[in-house]
Parts: sequence; C-alpha cells; structure tokens
Amino acid sequence: MTLPPQPVSTTTACSVGPSRPTCHAPSLTPFLPGKPIPDQPTQPMKHLFGPVNSRRLGLSLGIDLLPRKTCSFDCIYCELGSTTDLTCTRREYIPTGTLCDEIDRFLVDPERAARVDVFTITASGEPTLHSGLGEIIRHLKKKTDRPVAVLTNGSLLHLADVRHELALADIVVPSLDAARPESFRKINRPAREVELNAIIDGLAALRKEGHGQLWLEILFVKGVNDTAADITALNRALRLIRPHRIQCNTVVRPPAEPFAAPLTLIALRDIQEQLAGPTATIADFAGPAPATQRLPMASEILPMLQRRPCTADDICQALGTKKATTEELLDSLLKDHLVQQINHNNQEYYQVPNE
Ligand code: SF4
Repeated sequence: MTLPPQPVSTTTACSVGPSRPTCHAPSLTPFLPGKPIPDQPTQPMKHLFGPVNSRRLGLSLGIDLLPRKTCSFDCIYCELGSTTDLTCTRREYIPTGTLCDEIDRFLVDPERAARVDVFTITASGEPTLHSGLGEIIRHLKKKTDRPVAVLTNGSLLHLADVRHELALADIVVPSLDAARPESFRKINRPAREVELNAIIDGLAALRKEGHGQLWLEILFVKGVNDTAADITALNRALRLIRPHRIQCNTVVRPPAEPFAAPLTLIALRDIQEQLAGPTATIADFAGPAPATQRLPMASEILPMLQRRPCTADDICQALGTKKATTEELLDSLLKDHLVQQINHNNQEYYQVPNE
C-alpha cells in the first residue's frame, strides 16, 4: 500500500476498468467568465465530492455516507452546524447500492480517477453510523488500487463489528478531542449513550487489531480542552492508543457555536510539543491560493460548499482553480442564491445554505 500524498498524475490511465458503459458524471464543463452557470447533470453524484486537495491526505475524493446532519456528537466547532439527528443507531441511511453505483460512475472516467490519491469516506455526520460501511470499503478495495481512508469520531469503536469494518481501510483518521469527561462533554456534546472510556478502549483495540494506519486528530478550542489537566489526560490516552500519527488542529472555519474560539499557532505548537507521540500541526492558518490555469466548475464547488464553508482561496487550493474565475463563479452562485456568504474572523466564507 502506498500512502498519500503521492505525485498527482493526470495522464496515467487508471488500472480500474469501467463497470458501466456510459459515464453519468457531473458536468465537466468549466465556468467561463460572463457565461451562465453550467447546467447541472441529469444524474448528479449527490454523495461524492472532489477530488479536493487535502493537506492530510493528498488529492482526496470524498464519499459522504449520511444525510446532513446525522451524528453521535454535536461538536461546538462543527463546520456543518448543529446536529439535527443526534443518534448512535447504525442503519443504511442512504442505500449502499446507490453509493457504490456513484463510485462506479466516477471510476468510469480513467483520467479523472487517476487524479485521486485517496478515497476518503466521510459524512455529513459520523460515517460509522452507516451500516453498509464495510461493504463500501470492500467495494472500493475491489475497484481501485488507491488507499481508502475513513474519518470517524470514534463513538462506535466499542462495537467489534465497526472495528472489523474499519480494519479494512488503509487509513483511519479518528478524532479524540478530550480525555477528561467534563471537557469531552463540553466540546463534543455526545449522545447520551456515548462513553468516553469506551471510545479510548475502542481506539486502542482498533490499533491492535487493524492492519492500516491510525492517524488521530485532536482539535483544540481555546479555554475548553487546552488546560494542563486536559493535556495530561490526553497523554494517558495516547500512550494506550499508540496512534501512528497525532494531528493537532484548531477552529479555522465558521464553527457551529460562535464561542468556539481558536488557539493561536504558537499555543497550538506549544501543546503539540507536550503530547506523547509523533505529532504534527495540521491547522490551516490561511495560505495564498496557488497560481493555476484550471477553470472552476459549479458541479465541483457546490458539493464542497455543502459540506464545509470555504473561502475563495480554500476553493482554489482544494480544486487547483484560478482565483479570478473562481470568484466570478462564486458571485454568480450568490446571485442565484445557491450559496451564501458568512464573515468569520474577517474572512469571507461561502456555504450552501441549509435546506
Ligand atoms: S465535527 Fe464531526 S463528530 Fe463533531 S458534530 Fe461535526 S460531524 Fe459530528
């Protein structure tokens, strides 16, 4: 298994053969200044987004398993807003066949498939709540040789079935923001039946049982989970879990709760140095958009903005698109009320409004 990031090739043919004769992928017509927004495809991919440039994973195709917003947590920093379905019930929220069919339709185009470094299973909520998770990972492993990553909040890891399904992935990226019950409840606001110790034990068991990489993410919110007692408790948990990587993050995009404040980069680095294990800071402290010539497409931008608020620079960095035309397209989408603008920390973010 080769882990991302890898060199991105736009010319190599994908080794995966098409499973359907015709491509029903979203329109690949780029947006040109002064032109109307490209038509939406007749059969849009509702559950796939990207590929987007992820600092953690490389060029990542997102697969969203749940309707917004279905989660076992209601984190104060969540970029998706408040949890509307706070649940620990596993079920097939979206038919597994529909998700596998969209994956197949994406893979029909070998040039587009070859751009992907990693397939990332995520959700507008917590992906392990989807009872078809194992089948979807198996489907991806059968159809592509690229690594499969799964993002999770770890709340269902006490279930052996969930751990066995996650063990099929190449990379599991769980979050563990706090190891003290009071901080855990404040930052993650879990469903009643979620137990912190069961999460920590589940993470340690996954590390022992799984064959892939475990990259633990900790997101720090100022004054909530950043005290000396929090760091001591986190270190106790980290020694038990032994993740392959520990990624430190803080609030960057507009959070669910306005009181969820970020740490400074200095404070984050200070905490990072105190943590037990191989740590890195992954918080995106605003970089400039790269100069590129690629034109943006509404069919790429809208699925991204449905899942997280982004600045124009974020979009350019994620999709490798040109700044001026990206901004023009965003203006058109704003005029058509397909996106809305939010000011956060003096930055303009774009987001698809909640239905
Ligand atoms: S940040 Fe993740 S775990 Fe927390 S509420 Fe949002 S989707 Fe759920």
